[in-house]
Amino acid sequence: MHHLVWFRSDLRVADNPALYEACQSGAIVSAIYIDCPAQWQEHGRAPIQRDFLERNLNSLAEQLALLGIPLTLLTTDYFSEVPELLAAYIKEQKVTALYANRELGIDERRRDKALQATLDEQVAVRVFNGDCVLAHGSITTRSGDMYKVFTPFAKTWLSQLRATGYRLLPRPNIQGAALTASRIRLEGKTTSSQAWPAGEAAAHQALTTFCQQSLLDYGELRDYPAQASTSQLSPYLALGVLSPNQCLAAIEAELGQLPFSRGEQGFMWLNELIWREFYRHLLVAFPRLSMSKAFKPDTEALQWNYDKTDFAAWCEGQTGYPIIDAAMRCLHKTGWMHNRLRMIVASFLTKDLHIDWRWGEAHFMATLIDGELAANNGGWQWAAGTGADAAPYFRVFNPTTQGERFDSQGDFIRQWLPELAQVPAKYIHTPHQWLSQHQPDHNYPLPMVDHARARLHAIAMFDALKDKESA
Ligand SMILES: Cc1cc2nc3c(=O)[nH]c(=O)nc-3n(C[C@H](O)[C@H](O)[C@H](O)COP(=O)(O)OP(=O)(O)OC[C@H]3O[C@@H](n4cnc5c(N)ncnc54)[C@H](O)[C@@H]3O)c2cc1C
Repeated sequence: MHHLVWFRSDLRVADNPALYEACQSGAIVSAIYIDCPAQWQEHGRAPIQRDFLERNLNSLAEQLALLGIPLTLLTTDYFSEVPELLAAYIKEQKVTALYANRELGIDERRRDKALQATLDEQVAVRVFNGDCVLAHGSITTRSGDMYKVFTPFAKTWLSQLRATGYRLLPRPNIQGAALTASRIRLEGKTTSSQAWPAGEAAAHQALTTFCQQSLLDYGELRDYPAQASTSQLSPYLALGVLSPNQCLAAIEAELGQLPFSRGEQGFMWLNELIWREFYRHLLVAFPRLSMSKAFKPDTEALQWNYDKTDFAAWCEGQTGYPIIDAAMRCLHKTGWMHNRLRMIVASFLTKDLHIDWRWGEAHFMATLIDGELAANNGGWQWAAGTGADAAPYFRVFNPTTQGERFDSQGDFIRQWLPELAQVPAKYIHTPHQWLSQHQPDHNYPLPMVDHARARLHAIAMFDALKDKESA
């Protein structure tokens, strides 16, 4: 018997249900990864993430080789070609069972469905949840529907976790003599991800360090970008180098137990992991989210701005609002952005510049090392007022007061905007008057919009929807 494990966005050996179960089967186990470079491009994913993918694939191949499991790389342009390619490989290798962890995007699900239809009936296909603590579809309202807002979802999620616990799987047993992994090279990666150490060991080290040093202060410090107090584990979670169960286990190891309610130590970080699950469950329950459609269908009628010059100013960090510009330049330099800043820049693009959230979503995807559809789409639609959110549409972040609140001394701003390096804290969020007096030849742009007016325009855009409904 030959069982094949198909790795996708679960690039780890520990707590990997598909790999674990295959290794328990007593069959010969081998592994495969199918790279689809054209599909990657069509999904608009970032070169830095591709580089990180390659490095993590190599690390995975080495870990599998130690277990005596060879990892083969197959390449084909698009998902649509995968069923035929994989079916042929399975036939040639005389594979009797295929193991994989579920992927949630619509293209991935369509690919998997097409594969099922292509495969010989004798090949058993076993699919697992390796991506959420509690599998999608398991957290529902009494009538069996997916929740449309976060708070009741989180409540049910927590009570289910309390009732059932979570299942953390160990590394599988050694399957045979150690092998030598051959080097995997992917085409089309131009941005180095070296700032992020690759592989499961590095991810676990970062997780442990975070839990030991920052978990207890997370609730208090998580909103201040200059403090670097969040875990920065998102690149590992996005590619499945780390599993959410492993995050729960690390919380437990640090605190002796899991926090189940607000106010308990460590709860605020667990809450972010629940946000992650919420958006992933939503993606499955509402396939339109994978198709660039608004969660709230009526908001499809919003009259967005499609001005490329405005968009370019936002992308390049040249809006004249220091917190926005610092955040965008940090994104381009590092491929990562702090959550508070993601919320502020997304609000600015959609509510101050009135640009379609889909442009922002695509730009993030094309630049982020942790880009992943569920959280990115969820975050953008939350900010734009088109998403699964209980807050009223007239919530519009003020970029100046957000900066004053979360970067009061301007430390983060000065790190990314050298032209404002000399501006004292008192003026750092509204630097123009100071600049004109002290650095008259400065090249920092004036604010590209008047926030108060832009806010009223955003509210009017949403009011127009209501008028349409009642007409
Ligand atoms: C407009 C916008 C776009 C976003 N795009 C992405 C994206 O492409 N990929 C991505 O992983 N996250 C995205 N997020 C969510 C969040 O900003 C990042 O997960 C977080 O900043 C990563 O930093 P961290 O690992 O230090 O998080 P921590 O604060 O340490 O949180 C731990 C983990 O929980 C998850 N998480 C935290 N916050 C959220 C959230 N709001 N929604 C969903 N999951 C969350 C992440 O996996 C994160 O690594 C986006 C948020 C917004 C507002």
